[in-house]
Amino acid sequence: MNDSGRRTPHQTSPVMEYDVIILGAGVSGLVAASVLIDQGYRHILVVDEYDRIGGNHIHWSSDDYTFDVGSLIFQDDSPLLAHFPELLPLYVPIEPEWGRLNPQGVITNYPISVRDDIIRAGGLGMIRIMASVLYARLFQRRMRNAKEFSRYWIGGYLLWHSGLESYMKRFYGIAPEKIDIELAKKRMQWISEHASLGNLVRRLLPSKASGVRNRQLARPKAGFARLYDPAREHLEQRGVHFELGAQMKSIEKVHGQFHLHLSDRVLATPKLISTIPLEQTQSLCALEQQHRLETITLISLYFSFSGERGFRQSIIYNFSHDGAWKRLTVYSDFYGRANGREYFAAEVIADHVGGSIANAETDFREHVRANRLFRGDLKLEGSQVLTNAYPIYRQGAAQHAADAIKTLRAFGIESFGRHGGFNYLPTARATTLDAEAALDFKRTPQ
Ligand SMILES: Cc1cc2nc3c(=O)[nH]c(=O)nc-3n(C[C@H](O)[C@H](O)[C@H](O)COP(=O)(O)OP(=O)(O)OC[C@H]3O[C@@H](n4cnc5c(N)ncnc54)[C@H](O)[C@@H]3O)c2cc1C
Repeated sequence: MNDSGRRTPHQTSPVMEYDVIILGAGVSGLVAASVLIDQGYRHILVVDEYDRIGGNHIHWSSDDYTFDVGSLIFQDDSPLLAHFPELLPLYVPIEPEWGRLNPQGVITNYPISVRDDIIRAGGLGMIRIMASVLYARLFQRRMRNAKEFSRYWIGGYLLWHSGLESYMKRFYGIAPEKIDIELAKKRMQWISEHASLGNLVRRLLPSKASGVRNRQLARPKAGFARLYDPAREHLEQRGVHFELGAQMKSIEKVHGQFHLHLSDRVLATPKLISTIPLEQTQSLCALEQQHRLETITLISLYFSFSGERGFRQSIIYNFSHDGAWKRLTVYSDFYGRANGREYFAAEVIADHVGGSIANAETDFREHVRANRLFRGDLKLEGSQVLTNAYPIYRQGAAQHAADAIKTLRAFGIESFGRHGGFNYLPTARATTLDAEAALDFKRTPQ
């Protein structure tokens, strides 16, 4: 860092210079800092509006309860650990089981169960399933959106009967027929893989033990700060600086350099990388936004519970036709009960309940009661609202995002990550690989 004491035309505060400035201290920003150090950059600054690192890896604790905004599960073979090996011993090893509530009110296998979704449909049901698959493969071959893609593979009847169509609407925030086909292909490849005849037969047979599997991990009980603070120290020791809780006002180009105006000073750099929401970067740079990019706002409801929960799995997806909640995660399975009670988080798409936490809670209570889940004392301990949780891939959105990224690149800014690239990036693993690829990082073979 170099406080040059120079003045910009719009600001009287001194300019502090860095070789690189990275906007966003989530997984993308942290990996970017690590990669750039390896590539020989020094004097790197990571700036975030949040007052902590880890981005949208957010927990919430009260009393002895500890929840996350969603189901955040990590793996011990993640490439993130190659950058930050000090994280590994801090995670809590877990053995979660995933399940789903199907439209028939049965808690069964995720994402599909041959027994509960196909065989239990009965003779007539199975004929309808087969006939609709055949019909789709012969006459519904056009795939212009997520609904047509999944219908081609599993047929319209199973798509509805299994609840996948209802879940997709809950997950994507909009009707599956409005979802971009490219995203559907990327995110729903498992459907085409599972729907092959060979795979269906294999699922009916008893499974043989597969080879080495990765270990599933949860963050430390104390929260994400406990996990990511050592990563921050690791980067600081290598010369990275952090400016957290920063109020970013604008970005301008002055003599080939970027000037990032904060509320109280100006930071200058020849190289600017952004991992914050695309529209925010465009607005900071005063670049015109051609199209609005929609994102999901997520309401997380934090419940404690005493009684008969009605399922054994730690993570349940809602595939039933009703109920606005999308997924629930029982954190007491990972960290032990608190005050003698189990506790879990339920994620609700805010638009499906008019953005209201009270509506989300009422809807959840009614739905689980109707499905005989959580029979006993269910208490709302708290809630959180996360805007920009993930992108909504309405048709055309991928192209609009690509155009926005191109405009920023023409301005000189590389933008990538979940928000910076308007890219769903489901895991820290995918996010790490994406950041590495964006910065042309070559991993040294072990
Ligand atoms: C509900 C949920 C469940 C997830 N489940 C998993 C999981 O099981 N396993 C796993 O590995 N990962 C999971 N992820 C996260 C996944 O790892 C992300 O793709 C990754 O964290 C993206 O990192 P990022 O740095 O690109 O973006 P983020 O960490 O999302 O954000 C980067 C930065 O963008 C800015 N920003 C973001 N949102 C806003 C906002 N609303 N307002 C202002 N600034 C904002 C902030 O500066 C933030 O630090 C989950 C995330 C969520 C939200």
